[in-house]
Amino acid sequence: MTDHVSDLVILGGGSAGYAAALRAAELGRSVVLVEQDRLGGTCLHRGCIPTKALLHSAEVADQVRAAASVGIGATLEGVDAEAVAAFRERIVAKKFAGLEGLVRARGITVVAGVGRLVVDADGPAVAVGDDRYRGADVLLATGSYTRTLPGLELAGRVIGSEQALALREVPASVIVLGGGVIGVEFASAWRSLGAEVTILEALDHLVPVEDVAASKALERAFRKRGITARLGARFASVSQTDAGVTVTLEDGGQLSADYLLVAVGRGPATAGMGFEEAGIALDRGFVTVDARLQTSVPHVWAAGDIVPGLQLAHRGFQQGIFVAEEIAGLNPVAVAEHTIPRITYSHPEVASVGVTEEAARAEHGDAVVAYEYNLAGNGRSEIIGTSGIAKVVRVADGPVLGVHLVGDRVGELITEGQLAVAWEAHPEDIAPLLHAHPTQSEALGEAFLALAGKPLHAL
Ligand code: NAD
Repeated sequence: MTDHVSDLVILGGGSAGYAAALRAAELGRSVVLVEQDRLGGTCLHRGCIPTKALLHSAEVADQVRAAASVGIGATLEGVDAEAVAAFRERIVAKKFAGLEGLVRARGITVVAGVGRLVVDADGPAVAVGDDRYRGADVLLATGSYTRTLPGLELAGRVIGSEQALALREVPASVIVLGGGVIGVEFASAWRSLGAEVTILEALDHLVPVEDVAASKALERAFRKRGITARLGARFASVSQTDAGVTVTLEDGGQLSADYLLVAVGRGPATAGMGFEEAGIALDRGFVTVDARLQTSVPHVWAAGDIVPGLQLAHRGFQQGIFVAEEIAGLNPVAVAEHTIPRITYSHPEVASVGVTEEAARAEHGDAVVAYEYNLAGNGRSEIIGTSGIAKVVRVADGPVLGVHLVGDRVGELITEGQLAVAWEAHPEDIAPLLHAHPTQSEALGEAFLALAGKPLHAL
C-alpha cells in the first residue's frame, strides 16, 4: 500500500469534481482527482453536450424543412445518422481535449482508476488499487445513473439516454417513458429527425415540475409537431423482440415501436464505493450534507448529483467551486436552489427560474400576481417562427418570484430572470431598463412592464 498525500482528493471527475479541482488548484492547493472513466463525466460524454449537439442537428433538419416558407429553396434529402453521430462526437472530443489541457495546466494530478472512500485514524483517503490518496479534505462527486422502474431492465431495445445517444440510426418509432427533461429532449430530437414519437407520462403534464402554463405551451407545440403525449399514463410492462418493443399500460392498452426509452429520473451513484462503511450518512442513496456541503464525516464533502436537489451540471460546477473555496477558508456564499436556472432544450425550449405560480400562491396566497405575455406579440419570435410564452410571477408590491419561458432560443434569456429572482427585484426596478428591439428578450420586458402597471404592446 503506497500513501500519497495532498491537500484535496476528489472522487469523480464530472462537472462538480473537476470544477472543484480547478478552483482548488487556482487557490494554490495540491489536488488529486480520481476518475474511473474520462474527465468531464456524464455531462460532457453522455449528457448535456452530446444531447445538445443532437438537438442542433435536429434543429437544422427542421430549418431545412421550413426553408421554403422564408423564401429559401432547399429540400431535406435525408438524415445521415452516422454523420449526425460523428458531428456530436467531434464536439465532445474537442471539449474533452480542452478540459484535459486545462486540468493539466493547473497542475492537477489525475489518477485513472476506481476509487473507494476510506476513513481511518489518519483521516479520509481514497483507495485506488494498492494506492491510497490521502487528503486533508476529500470531496465526493460521483454523479448519477439512469434509474428504471422495478422489474424494468435496460437491455436490447429498452434503452436509457446513454444507449439512445449511442444509436447509429434514427428509429422509425419510439415510445418514451417519462415526460421530464430527458424524455422531452429526446422526443423533440427524434421527431425532428423523422421518427414517430409517443411520450408516456404518469402525471398530468409534460415537464410536470414546471409552471403549468409552460407545460401547456409545450404540449400545444408538441401536438402541432405530431408528437403524441399520453398524460396520466400508467406503465405496466414491456416485451421485446429483435424488431421492436410492445408496451402494455395498466388499463390494458398496448403500443408498439422500435425502441422504448426509459427516462424516469436519475439516481445518485453512491453504492459500492465505501461511503456507508466510512460512516457517510445517506438518505435514499443521496449523501446527506449540511448547508456548507460537509457530509456527516469531518473533512469529507459532497457536490453535484449525489447531493439532494436539482441534478444539473451548472449546479455541480457551482457546488464544486463552493467546496474548494470553503476548504480554503474563503467563506463563499451558498447558492440558493431557487435561483438556479433550468432549461429543457426541446423545440420549443422551456426555461425557468424561481417558483411556479402555484407554489407562489401556496406560500403567499392572493398577494401573488402573475402576467403571461404571448410570444405572438413579439416581432423576433414571429421572424424565427416560434410561439410560446414569457410568464413572470411576483408578490404584489413585492419581488419577482419566478420566471417561466417557452419558445425557441428562450434558454438564452433566462439569465435575466435569474438576476431578477436572485436580487429580489421588483418589476418596477426592471421596467426602466430597455430591452433591445427586436429581440425575444422584449417579451420578458413586456411582462415586467405589465406587472409594473405600464404595459406597452399588451393590454
Ligand atoms: P425527470 O425527473 O426530469 O423526469 C422523469 C419523468 O418521468 C417525470 O415527469 C415523472 O413524472 C415521469 N415518470 C416517473 N415514473 C413514471 C412512470 N412509471 N410512468 C410514466 N412516467 C413516469 O428525470 P429525467 O428526465 O430522467 O432526467 C433526470 C435528471 O437529469 C433530471 O434531474 C434532469 O434535470 C437532469 N437533466 C437535465 C437536463 C437539462 O438541464 N437540460 C437534461 C437532461 C437531464
